[in-house]
Amino acid sequence: MPIYSYRCEECGFAQDVLQKLSDPLLTECPACGKSAFKKQLSAPAIAGEGSGAPAGLPPCAFGGSCMGGPCG
Ligand SMILES: [Zn+2]
Repeated sequence: MPIYSYRCEECGFAQDVLQKLSDPLLTECPACGKSAFKKQLSAPAIAGEGSGAPAGLPPCAFGGSCMGGPCG
């Protein structure tokens, strides 16, 4: 079950909420009761698809994935 980070735009109250994917999103702030409770978009920590290589390395440092390049 994913955990969503919510934050109230009215009073700034923040809370992590455990929800099923099928659950409706919350809108009412439990702190001030206003309908300003919004789910926050959390940036996914993805650094390159499937390479597993540290960021910043040139493509030919990935070992064999640089076809026709300086290392291929
Ligand atoms: Zn609030």
